[in-house]
Amino acid sequence: MIQIIKNEPTFFTDAKKKVKSSHFVSSTWSELGKDEENFKIKLREHILLEEQNMLCAYCNQEIEADENNSNTDHFKKRANCPKETLEYKNLLVSCKSEFHCENIKDNFKFTHCSEFDKIVNPAIENPDDFFDYGIYGDILVKDGLSKADEEKAKFTIEVFELNNSSLKKDRAKIGDSLKFYYDLDYELNDILDDIISYPSFIKNIYTKIGEIK
Ligand SMILES: [Zn+2]
Repeated sequence: MIQIIKNEPTFFTDAKKKVKSSHFVSSTWSELGKDEENFKIKLREHILLEEQNMLCAYCNQEIEADENNSNTDHFKKRANCPKETLEYKNLLVSCKSEFHCENIKDNFKFTHCSEFDKIVNPAIENPDDFFDYGIYGDILVKDGLSKADEEKAKFTIEVFELNNSSLKKDRAKIGDSLKFYYDLDYELNDILDDIISYPSFIKNIYTKIGEIK
């Protein structure tokens, strides 16, 4: 996970002003941008391209902007947090894997909006403060956290299934290739230009690869 800097575009602010049915969550969301063709597509593409560098907000895999591969997710579910339905910071784009990310989070039974505060929110916190990585692709809870932050990191891994085997395998493969980059004296920034997915894993592993090898 990487930190996401949210910057509400004016087309979203303008569309929000036209929404009237603020009491009914699903109609509020469906009313958003209804006057404008392809509004939700434009929104998803904006978030992905301008804020998330084409990465899923949670697993950080590179994803396509089309609706088969990505979805605008309400970090805090609309059903539990209706007031956050049109809150721009609450909108993150997720991959559509059935094994991790949004789909797994949405299967969790949340009963109250405040429960989402138990998850690391990449739009307001820096995930690097919570997670560490292993060369074999594991995402780990960082050492030295307070009890509360340790619980938060653990729950975040669980709620998005961030150690799902396919993600781990993917990261491990990149971990392997990092050894070659290291031998060839590559700068970290050049590697991040080459490999789009999993930037926090790459940064974390590459800075300690000399010790690992
Ligand atoms: Zn994902």
